[in-house]
Amino acid sequence: MTDVRSARTGGADYRPMTESTLAPYLAGFNEVAVILGGTAQDWKVSEVGDGNLNLVFIVRGPEGALIVKQALPYVRLVGDSWPLPLDRSFFESQALITEDAAAPGLVPKVILFDAMQALVVMEFLTPHIIMRKGLIDGVEFPRFAATLSEFMAQSLFKTSDLYLPAAEKKRQMAAFCANTELCRITEDLVFTDPYRAAKLNHWTSPQLDDIALEFRADGPLKAAAQAMKLKFLSHAEALVHGDLHSGSIMATSTDVRVIDPEFAFFGPMGFDVGALIGNLILAYLSQMGHEDEKGGRDAYRAWILKQMVDVWTLFSARFVDLWSTEGKGDAFTAELFTDAASRAALAEEQARYMRSLFEDTLGFAGCKMIRRILG
Ligand code: ADP
Ligand code: MG
Repeated sequence: MTDVRSARTGGADYRPMTESTLAPYLAGFNEVAVILGGTAQDWKVSEVGDGNLNLVFIVRGPEGALIVKQALPYVRLVGDSWPLPLDRSFFESQALITEDAAAPGLVPKVILFDAMQALVVMEFLTPHIIMRKGLIDGVEFPRFAATLSEFMAQSLFKTSDLYLPAAEKKRQMAAFCANTELCRITEDLVFTDPYRAAKLNHWTSPQLDDIALEFRADGPLKAAAQAMKLKFLSHAEALVHGDLHSGSIMATSTDVRVIDPEFAFFGPMGFDVGALIGNLILAYLSQMGHEDEKGGRDAYRAWILKQMVDVWTLFSARFVDLWSTEGKGDAFTAELFTDAASRAALAEEQARYMRSLFEDTLGFAGCKMIRRILG
């Protein structure tokens, strides 16, 4: 990870790119030209157009293609009434680089980060589709559970105190600490707004009106959600992706990748695992509507359920395996656990740790599901 200060992202020369300005701008970067081939005149630029927050372009050259993602000083979906800092582009590029180092090949490769333009050039994933679309259409992705469990185990373990020396962990934390604005979106939209009358709330009305009211009046539920919010705010366990749902996953039948980590920060590991599991539960429930479809969606529902079980089972086994074989961080100092009795005690502690991580996972999954329904 570089030491570039996020505060430098965006500058006097910052300007949102267009389909006509992007190619001449990219021509200045040899690492880009090498991949695309030819010269700027040969490059075809098209805006993908479905980004919620940012501009996303596909640039095609005679020899290859790339994705360019540029932050706007506001939320794209809403407009300039909702300002959002450009430095999210810095956090996204740094998170992609850190994740690729921990779990090679599971995120798009970063080719270039230009702080001045708040812009990341990255590998173009093709013919991948956004997994959310596949889930709606009933597409099975055979590599999903294996890849996501590996991604989470590696990226969470290798940015935690179980793996990193304390000084390095703190150095990385310091860099991501400044991602306060995007964290705040989660703090408000996931943990607080569904439990109060908030401007941005939206639910299926009038069917869920009573439920929305009930949730706002449910003291124990509000206290439980705020307990999860406190963990989100204060448990800096590892670099979490921060928005790990099926809209941040691109897949084919043979490959699965994680994209869009602009919400990344040092937080509780269960937030990523829970986001993913909660998303699968909602996908499972939404398949209920397809009951009378010819052939039925029973088999697909069963596939989604199996992914839920597999993601947790594979993730937890892999995480403990990494801890046992590469646990060289400052937590659980390895030289204390060389004899058999100590190793057995460590194994018990690992089991306790994973139980607690599972509880966090379920709590965060619940918060994310409530947010999707009422938020
Ligand atoms: P935002 O954060 O603004 O929502 P995303 O990172 O989710 O933007 O990207 C928006 C869309 O652009 C994705 O849904 C996907 O279709 C496309 N996309 C993003 N990154 C890539 C990539 N590396 N390869 C191919 N398509 C991509
Ligand atoms: Mg995004």
